[in-house]
Amino acid sequence: MKQEHILIVEDEPSILYTLKEALLLSDYQVSTAQTLEEAKKSLSSNLDLILLDLNLPDGQGFSFCETVCSANRIPVIILTALDEDTDIIRGLDLGADDYVTKPFKLAVLLSRIAAVLRRSKQSPKESDLLSCQDILLNRTDTSVFFQGSPVTLTVGEYRLLEYLLINKNRTLTRDMLLAHLWDAEGKYVNDNTLTVMIKRLRSKLTSDSKQPIQTVRGIGYKLEDKLEDKLEIKNED
Ligand code: CA
Repeated sequence: MKQEHILIVEDEPSILYTLKEALLLSDYQVSTAQTLEEAKKSLSSNLDLILLDLNLPDGQGFSFCETVCSANRIPVIILTALDEDTDIIRGLDLGADDYVTKPFKLAVLLSRIAAVLRRSKQSPKESDLLSCQDILLNRTDTSVFFQGSPVTLTVGEYRLLEYLLINKNRTLTRDMLLAHLWDAEGKYVNDNTLTVMIKRLRSKLTSDSKQPIQTVRGIGYKLEDKLEDKLEIKNED
């Protein structure tokens, strides 16, 4: 049994049905979504691949591909009737791993899926230890340290910090952050909640001289590693 978990985002019922049946027959676990909204709700950390139609009733798949898929590092294959080069290039630029234009042969799609899954397994695992300046986050036991002292974070604050650390030295827009964060009940957080989360996280990760989480005016936030601020490793033995 392969049991890799694939999310199909496709609004055309007949294509969705055909794909779902074909994937189930190939021993994949399958979830489906017919809109971007449903797709966002179906996102979870145990997804191995997303098949993404670009023309959906509530918008284009491009932004979903950018803000959600690449941020969550889930491989994406674009399914599209738009066989124009510009759309394909745009999709690949936004982090998609491959594309298939409609109408497609199922056998071709299945072999592309297998290839993308194989590649994604070969890519190195993200590190368990993330750090920036005086912040250290250990993903194996979800502990966080600031200037050597343990810090207690809420689940939301932890996810926010982890995401900033994974993308350190890169500006994250508020939209990217909103697409990546959900609360304890599994609901996406809203803009106000994000502002509060940033504020609380900052209050826990600030010293007199340092404010690691920078505001990029009008865009979002950034955690920046500066060479002179590298964490000093104390040898206490
Ligand atoms: Ca469509």
